[in-house]
Amino acid sequence: MDRTRLPPVRQFIAEGPHYDLYCYGEGCPRPHMMINAAQAERLFGAGWTLARIRPRLKCSACGARARDKKVEIKPDTLLDAISRHREHLVKEIAQYGRPQTQPLVLPGLGEITPADLGLKVPSNDA
Ligand SMILES: [Zn+2]
Repeated sequence: MDRTRLPPVRQFIAEGPHYDLYCYGEGCPRPHMMINAAQAERLFGAGWTLARIRPRLKCSACGARARDKKVEIKPDTLLDAISRHREHLVKEIAQYGRPQTQPLVLPGLGEITPADLGLKVPSNDA
């Protein structure tokens, strides 16, 4: 999954952990790929771990290998940013009745609204 073509925010959150795969193979047509937990399980098998697959990775686009330090996998951090933002909003809504900070905007996902995070913001007209 290309970071410029991520699914809608709510689906992205529902998919759980995501992982970034980087390839540094010369001229590789696929230098970055993001996969979700289900895709990782299909690729690496049930019960896979980063520690186990990390040294054995091979780029399916150019053949570069992790053992040559040309391919790596990292846990993606977008979900962490979303969950930190959510905690922040929960505190603000509890204290001030509505969010005080700017909406979170993330690459490939766009603006994250309180509703995307399952939060209800009381309306002004009440
Ligand atoms: Zn590659």
